[in-house]
Amino acid sequence: MIRMYCRAHHGAKKNLCEDCAGLLAYAQERIAQCPFGDGKPVCNKCTVHCYNPGMRARVQTVMRYAGPRMIWHHPILAIRHLLRSPTSDP
Ligand SMILES: [Zn+2]
Repeated sequence: MIRMYCRAHHGAKKNLCEDCAGLLAYAQERIAQCPFGDGKPVCNKCTVHCYNPGMRARVQTVMRYAGPRMIWHHPILAIRHLLRSPTSDP
């Protein structure tokens, strides 16, 4: 998802730009430490706010962009994501 976002917004071709690579590394690190592991709910619903506020905002920006586009790549995941996400976006 971060790759999709980076390609569209930062013109990344094969590799993520430095910013996005850092964000991805951070997210993976947090997910690795998440007590929910693979059974982790969507982060909106996650009771453990494992991202610090700045990183959380960036992850949410990426998710907002990539979420709807995930339909074409991971239909099941995307539908589950949409079902679980609040519909507060315009
Ligand atoms: Zn980027």
